Amino acid sequence: MTESCDVAIIGGGAIGSAIAFFLLEKGFGGRLAVIERDPSYRFASSALSASSIRQQFSTPVNIALSRFGIDFLRQAGDRLAIGDDRPVIGLKEAGYLFLASPEGLSILDKNHLVQRAAGADVALLPPPKLEARFPWLSLEGLAAGSLGLSGEGWFDGPGLMQAFRRKAQSLGVRYLTGEISGMERERNGISALLFGNGSRLTCGTVVNAAGPQAGKVAALAGLTLPVEPRKRCVFVFDCRAPLPDCPLVIDTSGVWFRPEGARFIAGISPPPERDPQDPDFDVDYALFDEIVWPALAARVPAFEAIKLTSAWAGHYEYNTFDQNGVVGPHPEVRNFLFANGFSGHGIQQSPAVGCAIAEWIIGGAYRSVDPSDLSYDRIPAGQPLRELNIV
Ligand SMILES: Cc1cc2nc3c(=O)[nH]c(=O)nc-3n(C[C@H](O)[C@H](O)[C@H](O)COP(=O)(O)OP(=O)(O)OC[C@H]3O[C@@H](n4cnc5c(N)ncnc54)[C@H](O)[C@@H]3O)c2cc1C
Repeated sequence: MTESCDVAIIGGGAIGSAIAFFLLEKGFGGRLAVIERDPSYRFASSALSASSIRQQFSTPVNIALSRFGIDFLRQAGDRLAIGDDRPVIGLKEAGYLFLASPEGLSILDKNHLVQRAAGADVALLPPPKLEARFPWLSLEGLAAGSLGLSGEGWFDGPGLMQAFRRKAQSLGVRYLTGEISGMERERNGISALLFGNGSRLTCGTVVNAAGPQAGKVAALAGLTLPVEPRKRCVFVFDCRAPLPDCPLVIDTSGVWFRPEGARFIAGISPPPERDPQDPDFDVDYALFDEIVWPALAARVPAFEAIKLTSAWAGHYEYNTFDQNGVVGPHPEVRNFLFANGFSGHGIQQSPAVGCAIAEWIIGGAYRSVDPSDLSYDRIPAGQPLRELNIV
């Protein structure tokens, strides 16, 4: 069977659904289809995300995208309401605290200048100020910390994804269930998508929003995209002692932790030898025992007596080239758009990416937020955009 549409979005997670929502909100009048292989979203990044948002990046484009994100999250209840039904995405603006050792201080200082210049509300705290503000923190080996004073925190990421999806559907977007397993390509463009069951969808524009599978989806179009799944584990634990005003803390060891309701969650990007390219979804409990817990206990003495209550594993859509998003059209296959590779910061950037891609499709230019620095062109040019603050 052959159907047709003007825009086909492959993947209906937070990114694909945000693009669909913004297209309709901005008045796109064409036929739009979102193709999602698993509407339960059981293994989608957006469903397994730690869903935190920060301004503390080292590149202006990431700061701009996340500043757009926090503005949108503050209004999400209104923007994504369906009649009187307002989604609750539980935004908590409790900040990020990046800690630096004496060796890491120059990078913290450098990032601070970039962040302030890009309008981020951040403050550098020397050890006495850290002690006064967070008396539960061990200052061992610390030279300073960088604290987000506003615009940073965490939220219900799966809830945001569902709110985008429901709102997009209420505005008339069609979600098709199925897996894209092939594409028909004409010289300078994609003409049709092929489903695993043999159906065919002709389309004018294709958006790759396939999360960790984005590299595989690009390959279906004959294109190279250095994005692959990488496993990240999140550990949930109880701590009896209260930690007043606890932000999301990034320790010098690379371990991060933050409150989650009455509990805490924590994790770390594993060392390369424990970070396979074709990962499963099994929790790496040894990572907690050997790396995460010792670092937690060293940084917060009250964490010596924690109890691990649960854990989960999800896949990052990891950009092996430079750990940054790839956003916008392919330079030659102009009707193929990327919205991929966010490497652990995609859910906070989903509003900005959704808006930018929608504006590109409708008017051929970015207007409200500019992700041009994330264009695909840097990949064939061999010019990585390095993000120093990867968590
Ligand atoms: C453990 C963990 C912690 C994270 N923490 C944060 C954080 O604190 N802050 C942050 O901003 N980000 C974080 N992220 C990253 C963030 O969750 C992702 O960047 C974001 O959710 C990506 O959204 P997406 O829509 O691109 O991908 P997904 O949510 O994975 O959606 C892609 C969809 O495409 C579908 N699909 C794939 N291939 C096909 C195909 N061939 N045909 C049809 N459908 C297809 C999939 O089924 C999937 O539903 C974290 C991720 C993980 C795993």
